[in-house]
Amino acid sequence: MRYLILSDLHANLPALEAVIADAATLQYDEILVLGDLVGYGADPAAVIERTLALNPKSMIRGNHDKVCAGIEPPVLFNDVARLAAEWTHDTLSPEHLEMLAKLPQGPLTVTPDLEICHGAPFDEDFYLFEEADAARAIASTEARICLFGHTHVPTLFAKADDPFGNQIGTIEEYRLPATGPALINVGSVGQPRDRDPRAAYGVLDTDQNTILLRRVAYDIAAAQASIMAAGLPAWLALRLERGQ
Ligand code: ZN
Repeated sequence: MRYLILSDLHANLPALEAVIADAATLQYDEILVLGDLVGYGADPAAVIERTLALNPKSMIRGNHDKVCAGIEPPVLFNDVARLAAEWTHDTLSPEHLEMLAKLPQGPLTVTPDLEICHGAPFDEDFYLFEEADAARAIASTEARICLFGHTHVPTLFAKADDPFGNQIGTIEEYRLPATGPALINVGSVGQPRDRDPRAAYGVLDTDQNTILLRRVAYDIAAAQASIMAAGLPAWLALRLERGQ
């Protein structure tokens, strides 16, 4: 099975369109969406509709989906994130807000071997950057492969006797450990934060036991123009070109 993995789309329609077009050149069977469809970007309704039209096999909520839907207060949000969440809430239709509110909480079991979560298996809002937290995450899941998002940074964690530890970079395809666990973040479609402004996504091949970490250039200027036209904070436009 080949899974197209999308995470942290953040209402960035030009980025999502570029990813869908690029992914069409690769083969995949099913789509997994790891949350944060909205928040920060200026096209929340269009991104929700485009994502639903892909008919994902599994989809979970992110912290921005919860706050934008109004089911959780923005207590952990900085001012810019909170302003964008309020704008998103006011912009979306009741139907879209309800759809976001009903997204399931991770972790979600896709197959006995594969699990998805937004932040970490033990806490959907946790930022998983450190090796010690990765070990805790691996200990808290039964699945051999756990996909996560939330940090917006492509990351691989696996056991030390495997050929990689925590690798972040431009190498595209990795072979996963034959038996040991792997924690994988394919990065963010709509707001990359690893200083590479290109949209990020992944393809997991459970037969070949590989993960493809893909980057694709998109029309950043168009996404920025939408953000400014919407009256959202200028930083949200600037950070897209910085990959920050
Ligand atoms: Zn996010």
